[in-house]
Amino acid sequence: MAHETFQTVEGQLNWNAPMFKLYEKAKKNGKWDPADIDFSQDQIDFQRMTEDERVTSLPLVASFSAGEEAVTVDILPMVHAMANQGRLEDTMFLTTFMFDEAKHTEMFSRWQKAIGVGEMDLSVFHSDSYKRIFYEALPESMNRLTTDDSPEAVIRAATVYNMVVEGILAESGYYSFRQIFKKANLLPGILMGIDYLNRDEGRHLQFGIYTIQRLIAGNEKNRLIFNDYMDELWPDAYGVIEYLTSLYDIQMAQDWTNSSLEFDSDAMREYAKKQFEIRKRQVNRAKNYSSAAELDERLVKSKDI
Ligand code: FE
Ligand code: FE
Repeated sequence: MAHETFQTVEGQLNWNAPMFKLYEKAKKNGKWDPADIDFSQDQIDFQRMTEDERVTSLPLVASFSAGEEAVTVDILPMVHAMANQGRLEDTMFLTTFMFDEAKHTEMFSRWQKAIGVGEMDLSVFHSDSYKRIFYEALPESMNRLTTDDSPEAVIRAATVYNMVVEGILAESGYYSFRQIFKKANLLPGILMGIDYLNRDEGRHLQFGIYTIQRLIAGNEKNRLIFNDYMDELWPDAYGVIEYLTSLYDIQMAQDWTNSSLEFDSDAMREYAKKQFEIRKRQVNRAKNYSSAAELDERLVKSKDI
């Protein structure tokens, strides 16, 4: 398709666009390098762990590694869709988004190499629910955007990518990781990496919330598409959490008295359920706006982005 106009030649960037604001934030707050993280203490900690204790960290890492790799390679159709729709500021923000995901993928791979499990096949820890979301629903919804960038397709892509994978699963993963390893004072390197990831993901979530909200503002049909898809994905999203916490329950049922690790599986499951409710509530706030323009206007006035 030929270009008919250029926004920055006919005029300028929309400095007030919510996604331009987010782009500015990303440039400032997204500065970190996975190669700078020191994993030497993690290596020592991992060596000292018992076999059972190691098995508590690896399923989580297996979920994160594949998850970050999936979102790195699956984001392009969204960038393409926003660019084709002439959403220049959104496209600019997404350039930082993709770089963030690449760094997240790098971080986990570096950690695995540092602690000596780089060659281990961790896919045994991917449950059927995990596979349905990360191997199927995510790439299917994202790839649809290459031929269909309708509101429905964009909403579904942002729902599985931003709300379910990032908003529910990644957030619950950070929580579990900190619950288990921060409390036990183990694996400081990966915990530092997770702090950086968490900050980046905050921006990614804002992109997802905004993208869905602007399409459902004043459009009840689109709002139902979002809510229905969230409900459709929830059993598998929760299935991912149930599988991981069931591994901890098995560990706890065994003789675990010599371990410094503690699990509160119920708290982890509750946390995931809470994330589901929060994401739904956040996006549905768009009900208060009659149009995308009104949402933009409110975001300009507030300091939310
Ligand atoms: Fe990420
Ligand atoms: Fe992300």
